[in-house]
Amino acid sequence: MARRKRILMLHTGGTLAMEGKRPQPLYPADFEHTLREQVPELARIALIEFEVFSNIDSSDMRPMLWSKLAERIHVRLPEVDGVVVTHGTDTMAWTASALSFMLRGLRKPVVLTGSQRPLGEVRTDARLNLIDAVTAATTGPSEVCICFDSRLYRGNRSRKIKINDYDAFESPNFPPLGTLGVDIVYGEARRPKGPPRVMPRLEPHVFLLGIFPGIPPRVARAILPGLRGLVIQGFGAGNFPVEGEASLLPLFDEARERGIPTVMVSQARCNAVDLSLYEAGAAALQRGVISGGDMTPETALVKLMHVLGYEKDPARVRALLEADLVGERTTA
Ligand code: ASP
Repeated sequence: MARRKRILMLHTGGTLAMEGKRPQPLYPADFEHTLREQVPELARIALIEFEVFSNIDSSDMRPMLWSKLAERIHVRLPEVDGVVVTHGTDTMAWTASALSFMLRGLRKPVVLTGSQRPLGEVRTDARLNLIDAVTAATTGPSEVCICFDSRLYRGNRSRKIKINDYDAFESPNFPPLGTLGVDIVYGEARRPKGPPRVMPRLEPHVFLLGIFPGIPPRVARAILPGLRGLVIQGFGAGNFPVEGEASLLPLFDEARERGIPTVMVSQARCNAVDLSLYEAGAAALQRGVISGGDMTPETALVKLMHVLGYEKDPARVRALLEADLVGERTTA
């Protein structure tokens, strides 16, 4: 008889583990107890080892916790067949992205899941998400993934897109890694590069700036002192105001003078920025702005934290940001 697979379930918090009667706010509760009571059949899929990493609303996730989480997973991975991370949906895509850069050479699945309604509720989506996540952690691709509403997404390609519906995630620029419907179908897995290793360092002094019509250039420039890296979420192909006093070009000039690597991504949901298409983009390129291609804003920012955690040389920083390190961007 085949050996039952061993799965480590690392709990970080989120709605799936919360309790409370609406309209009162939900609060973090004892998840292991509810889990064993509400989804005993998980034990039929795998031997689940449950560990509480934290019990927070994922709005309180932060780089220091990502590093600790990656280190914990790296230490435990040799003893298990896969890992499920239970996590709030609000920042799940950020955490998945961070883990994808920090856990290199993965040979086993690391699957994040959560839910829109707590596990204890009758119409919860947590039950199926947990069953699917444990299934994907035993049989799915060896990547950092998000499993939600019967889909498996590459972690660093995912975004939370809905607050009230069960299909809360999407992967706008990359097809799902799997579908867990009546049949379970996985796509081709990415080949790991190099031996399994953890890269936990992150540079926290970065900023994600969303451009909007009328953005005051002086206020935008005020974020630059003390900054180590900047991601700009421009309009469309990577555009921003360039006319007269409202021009943001002085921001790019100053960022360059201060040696702050600046990455451009888009506010548009799909496709890649193209900085050669319009005057603004071309002026940004001239000022050394790095194209974020089709990376999500979440992934561009986390990747910048990761790269700056290890590299200081501007040419190397640029090369790493432009490269596809762990499937996070499409390269020609
Ligand atoms: N605020 C919650 C969290 O991210 C939302 C959720 O889990 O769906 O922790």
